[in-house]
Amino acid sequence: MPQSDLLCRPHCGACCIAPSITQPFWGMPHGKPAGMACVHLNTAMQCRLFRDVRRPACCSGLHPEIAMCGSNREEALVFLRHLEQATLPGVP
Ligand code: SF4
Ligand code: SF4
Repeated sequence: MPQSDLLCRPHCGACCIAPSITQPFWGMPHGKPAGMACVHLNTAMQCRLFRDVRRPACCSGLHPEIAMCGSNREEALVFLRHLEQATLPGVP
């Protein structure tokens, strides 16, 4: 979600790396596997598709919040990896 608003931490990109995106989207026709950096992240960990209609709806709908973003990038990665595991299909 980098650059989505002023609350998004610079040089983070955790929510564009840790979670999977199961639906195909522009540039990633098979979706994005968990743990893989989205192809649209630039070297400053900002989304190149911000304000672009090709940006996936799941990205546009996700907003920074303390529960997800934590107080630093590593906390965000840990939280999002855990969330990814907890929401895998078949996990009760
Ligand atoms: S985890 Fe939070 S701070 Fe980090 S890129 Fe995503 S929205 Fe921004
Ligand atoms: S499209 Fe942009 S916001 Fe969505 S995962 Fe890729 S870099 Fe992040």
